[in-house]
Amino acid sequence: MLDFSFQNPTRIHFGEGQIAAISQEIPLDARVLLVYGGGSIKSNGVYQQVVSALNKHTWFEFSGIEPNPSYDTLMKAQKIIKAHSIDYILAVGGGSVVDGAKFIAAATLFDGNDPWNILAKQQTITQALPIGAVLTLPATGSESNGNSVVTRDGNKLPFSSPLVRPLFAVLDPKVTLSLSDRQIGNGVVDAFVHTIEQYLTYSVNGKVQDRFSEGLLQTLIEEGPKALEPATKENLEVRANIMWSATMALNGLIGAGVPQDWSTHMIGHELTGAFGIDHARTLSIVLPAVMKVCRDKKREKLLQYASRVWQLTEGDDDTRIDQAILLTEQFFTKMQVPTRLSDVDLGIKDIDLLIKRLEEHGMTALGEHGDITLDKSREILIQAL
Ligand code: NAP
Ligand code: FE
Repeated sequence: MLDFSFQNPTRIHFGEGQIAAISQEIPLDARVLLVYGGGSIKSNGVYQQVVSALNKHTWFEFSGIEPNPSYDTLMKAQKIIKAHSIDYILAVGGGSVVDGAKFIAAATLFDGNDPWNILAKQQTITQALPIGAVLTLPATGSESNGNSVVTRDGNKLPFSSPLVRPLFAVLDPKVTLSLSDRQIGNGVVDAFVHTIEQYLTYSVNGKVQDRFSEGLLQTLIEEGPKALEPATKENLEVRANIMWSATMALNGLIGAGVPQDWSTHMIGHELTGAFGIDHARTLSIVLPAVMKVCRDKKREKLLQYASRVWQLTEGDDDTRIDQAILLTEQFFTKMQVPTRLSDVDLGIKDIDLLIKRLEEHGMTALGEHGDITLDKSREILIQAL
């Protein structure tokens, strides 16, 4: 195992009715900005629950954070923050709202000249407003990590800081019942790929992390499809297991002390930035191609994945690897997401733009070995056609 330091201070309140816990979590003298997205929280009752929980607090609101939150939208929050001396951000929504809240919290107290540099130049932030989160879409893990992804003019860029990790997060599986099938599928696939990216590298004998990852992958494979099937989709146990898996997939635990390969996410970000494809749908297209192009370097882990996650025991090593990749694609298809660029009407002519963007964003040495160069990314995209 590699050396690591691990701390995850986000307090989780899990279960039905836990939105009420925010009344105790946020200091009474705080001046709170409730931030949310396009309005799903108003039609599923979440907004009302949050408003009731805040009945002793002084609060204001900022809405309209879109999926793949845009820099321009997020910067509009600064006006209301200054006008009302806001000192606490409460994010209520999916990963886009939580990520957006993190950027707002960092931009407010940024001591450089231009907050865009937090993303474009990876300038370090030294302070941020405190953040709490009520999660409505299990997928990103953003509710208990320090990562955020923001888009400006087609450039989708991440930043990361422990200062923007939410202090607390409410996870009530019941609020996920209003999700569309598309968002359920997207969420399960995003969490699955987060787990794979911290697992499918090379062995450093991180047995605990491997077993945790395999447990999460198996849970998502078992429970994910149930959330789409009419007979089981309202089952709160199914929703609870998906929700907790998605949080555990990217709260730092399974990635501590093991190599990581975020190439699928980084290539996927360009697909969203350039063509507006949903985040998870970029991952389901790119990941199988990464597995195929990097199969030699990932051989040992692919074999472990084949046997422990998919229980494949028949055939020689190459047959079992082929089978494991095929089963991964079939799982994505079951979750109703695309697995090829052609499924989203993209083709060979679109690859040059993606490679150009990867270069502009410094994504020239991806993967656990830093050897996914632009040429390799091209090979991956061609494989994904
Ligand atoms: P999202 O973009 O936050 O939300 C997608 C859609 O789902 C929105 O239209 C939203 O509507 C709707 N929605 C959310 N909760 C709902 C509910 N309970 N019922 C009905 N509709 C609901 O989706 P996401 O997949 O969670 O987040 C994706 C973003 O996170 C991407 O930008 C991605 O790059 C980023 N990401 C971050 C991390 C990280 O570690 N921070 C990791 C992976 C990805 P409303 O707007 O109306 O609420
Ligand atoms: Fe993701």
